[in-house]
Amino acid sequence: MATIKTIGVLTSGGDAPGMNAAIRAVTRAARYNGWAVKGIMRGYKGLITNEIVDFHSNSVSNIIQRGGTILKTARCREFMTVEGRQLAYDNMRAAGIDALVVIGGDGTITGAQIFAEQFDIPIVGLPGTIDNDLSGTDVTIGYDTALNTIVEAVDKLRDTATSHERLFFVEVMGRRAGYLALNGAIASGAEAAIIPESETGDDQLKTLIDNGFRKSKNSAIVLVAEDPATGGAMGLARRVEEEYPQYDARVTILGHLQRGGSPTAADRILASRLGAGAVEALKEGQRNIMVGVKNGEMVYTPFSQALSKTKTVKSSNIELVKMLSI
Ligand code: ATP
Repeated sequence: MATIKTIGVLTSGGDAPGMNAAIRAVTRAARYNGWAVKGIMRGYKGLITNEIVDFHSNSVSNIIQRGGTILKTARCREFMTVEGRQLAYDNMRAAGIDALVVIGGDGTITGAQIFAEQFDIPIVGLPGTIDNDLSGTDVTIGYDTALNTIVEAVDKLRDTATSHERLFFVEVMGRRAGYLALNGAIASGAEAAIIPESETGDDQLKTLIDNGFRKSKNSAIVLVAEDPATGGAMGLARRVEEEYPQYDARVTILGHLQRGGSPTAADRILASRLGAGAVEALKEGQRNIMVGVKNGEMVYTPFSQALSKTKTVKSSNIELVKMLSI
C-alpha cells in the first residue's frame, strides 16, 4: 500500500454539533504525524466540483465550540453515479490526496463504502449524526448535544403544560431511530415516548390513552419520533382529535433547532477521540472502516457491518419510561 502523505477530510449529510471538533482533531492529529491535510468543502459535492483547500493547524483554530461544520455539508446525488465518483476520484488524486476521512451519517458511510469499492483508496468514516442510528458505536457525534437541546425545550414546555390539561406531543428527529425520543423522554421526565422501534403491531397511542394518562396527572408530555408510519406528532394529534375528542392535544415540532448549538463537552471529547482515532487507524493501515466507541473503548467496524446491522434502542429503557411515569 502506498504511504500516506496527504489526507482529505469532509463532512456530509445532515450537520451535527461536534463535527467541527472532529475536523479539528483529524487535522491536528494528521499534522502531528507530519501529513498534509486538505479540507473538502460541501461533502462529496466538493470533490466533484473541486472545492478542495489546504488545511493547516490554524485552519481549525477556535472551532471546537462551534456547532455546524466549517467545511459545510451537502447532499450530492451526482456522487451516487459511477461518472460522478470518477470525477471525484480524479479531483482527489489531482489534489494529491492519498486517503479520506469522511464524517457523516449512514448515507455518508454508504457513499464511502461504494467509493472505496470503485477505487483503491483508504477511507475511514466517523459517525457524525444526531440520530445515533449507526451500529459500530455506542454514540454518534452530535447525539448528546441534540439530546440536551431536547431536554431544555421539554423543560420549558412542561411549565406551560402543567398550567393546562393537555396532551403535548413533542416531535423530535431520529429518522427511523427512536434514540432521541426515548432517551429524551427519560431525561425530561416525559410521560411516554412513541418510537418506531416499538412498532410490534401494538398501537402506542391507544395504549397511552387506555392507560389513562390523566389518572394521576392533568397533563402529559409525549416525545414522538418523526416517523411516516405514525405521521409523527401531527399524525397523532389528528388521531386524538378524531378518536379521543375528550382530550386537547397540542403539537410542538422541534425541527432543525435540534441540530444547532455549541456541542456539549461529551460531544467535543467524543469527536476529538474519534478524529484522532481516524488518523491512528490510517497510520495502522486500516481502511474502509468506521471508528466508533464501544464501552468506552475505540473500535473499528468495517463499513459493511456498520451499515448492515441495525442498532436498536434498549428495550429496558422503554419499560423505564413507563415505570417512571405513573
Ligand atoms: P444524516 O443521517 O444526518 O441524514 P447522512 O450521511 O445519512 O446524514 P445522506 O443525505 O443520507 O446523509 O447521505 C449523504 C451523502 O452521501 C449523499 O448526499 C450522497 O452524496 C452520499 N451517498 C448516500 N448514499 C449513497 C450511495 N448509495 N451511493 C453513493 N453515495 C451515497
